[in-house]
Formats: sequence, structure tokens, C-alpha cells
Amino acid sequence: MRIDVITIFPQYLTPLRESLLGKAIDRGQLQLAIHDLREHTTDRHRTVDDAPYGGGPGMVMKPDVWATALDAVVAASDPAAAPALIVPTPAGKPFTQAVAAELAGRRQLIFAPARYEGIDQRFVTDAATRMPVYELSIGDYVLAGGEAAVLVMVEAVARLLPGVLGNPESAVDDSFGTGLPGLLEAPSYTRPPVFRGLPIPDELTSGNHAHIARYRRDESLRRTAAHRPELLAALPPEALDAGDYQV
Ligand code: SAM
Repeated sequence: MRIDVITIFPQYLTPLRESLLGKAIDRGQLQLAIHDLREHTTDRHRTVDDAPYGGGPGMVMKPDVWATALDAVVAASDPAAAPALIVPTPAGKPFTQAVAAELAGRRQLIFAPARYEGIDQRFVTDAATRMPVYELSIGDYVLAGGEAAVLVMVEAVARLLPGVLGNPESAVDDSFGTGLPGLLEAPSYTRPPVFRGLPIPDELTSGNHAHIARYRRDESLRRTAAHRPELLAALPPEALDAGDYQV
């Protein structure tokens, strides 16, 4: 997969080259390019924003500068990659694990993180005539800028790419994973067997795989009920098995 990010703060995206993603880049599983939006300004002050039409506080990012930057990235891309544009915004659709999985199936993603009051909406309207556009929110709160949202989304997408996780089963068994549709993962434990007087649950040392699986599923259901009751309420009846009804 190729990922392009257009931003006025290129340094903000440096963590994308660390850890798991850094290794994916080194192995050639992920290509990453960060572009400075200001390179596409035409005035002496390298202006990227202007006052909002209709009045109000704050500034709005200029559609012409963004469109020129996007056009340059698209022009330098492989047309067969059919890039999609991702616009982080608190006013977007929720970015979920299902959306991450959908994006992981694409060959190229171009991210457009904004600052100030966001980007003039005509940038999105115009881009949507040429490519798929996803306006996505990472949660019901407002950040100062979209770069942190890009870090979140790229990490969630990249760990789903083939070969990026050491064990692909990890993503299946994760909260919201395909092995646990609509549920949170059960708590995890490791050595020592007793920590500050707290033992690990007996079921996990039973060696009986069916018991362990049953225990983990029960804990998963309990945790989901405690932390995210709305997820449990939304589960279709067929997602539950006979043992679940004892929980
Ligand atoms: N005026 C905008 C609104 O209320 O919808 C908020 C603008 S915010 C201060 C600046 C930028 O941060 C946004 O354009 C977006 O790129 C990013 N941003 C803020 N919160 C976000 C969130 N929850 N999800 C994704 N991006 C977010």
C-alpha cells in the first residue's frame, strides 16, 4: 500500500516511521510520502487559509491550494492504484475497525489533515468527482488539527495489511476483530502467575483449549456489557451461541 499525507506540519507525521509501521516501510509493505501543503501556495507569505464566508471565528483552509497539492500527488501516482482521499474531520462518519479493514483493501490512500476550521468544502466536492472520498472522524471530540487523526487511522489500517503483524491471528482476535464481531477482547495475562497477591484466572492454566475459549468468550461478553453495553445490545441473536446465554 502507498500512503500520502498532505499537511502544513510534515514533522508531525514522523512517528509513522517508528515501530511496526517503520518495519513495514523497511520491508516494502508500506510506502509513505509526506507532502508540505505550503509548497503549493503561490504568494510570498505561503498562505493556506482565509476568513470564512458568512463571518464567524477562525480561518478556513483554501480549496485552491489543497486541490493543487492533491492534483500533484495524484499526477505522481500510479493510475492503476486508484487512490482514495481521506479527509479527517469531527463532522465525518465514524472511523471504525470495519472502515479500517475497507481502507486496508485499497492500494493508495491520500490523507488531507486540516487545521483551523477545516478545509473549504468545495475541495471535497471537487475531489469526489474524481476519486472515492472518505470524510472520517476518529471520535466525538475536536482536535486542534487532523495530523493526530492521520496517525491513528494509518496505524489502524497498516496493521491489517498482509504480513505487517507478526501473527495475523492477533487482528482476528482483537476487539472488533472478525473473530469477535461486535465484541471487546477479554483481558490478557502473562507471567508471573501471582502479581501483588493477584493470581491469574485458573481457566487459563487448565490446558483445556475448549475451556479457555469458553472462558475468554464469557469475559469478552462481560467486558462488552460493562464498557460498551450498546455494542452488546446491537448484536444479532445469531451472533450468540448456546453457552453465551449463561453469561
Ligand atoms: N470546525 C470543525 C468542526 O467543528 O467540525 C473543527 C475543526 S478542528 C479545530 C481542525 C481539524 O482537526 C479538522 O479539520 C480535522 O482535520 C481535525 N480534527 C479535529 N477533530 C477531529 C476528529 N474527531 N476526527 C478527525 N479529525 C479531526
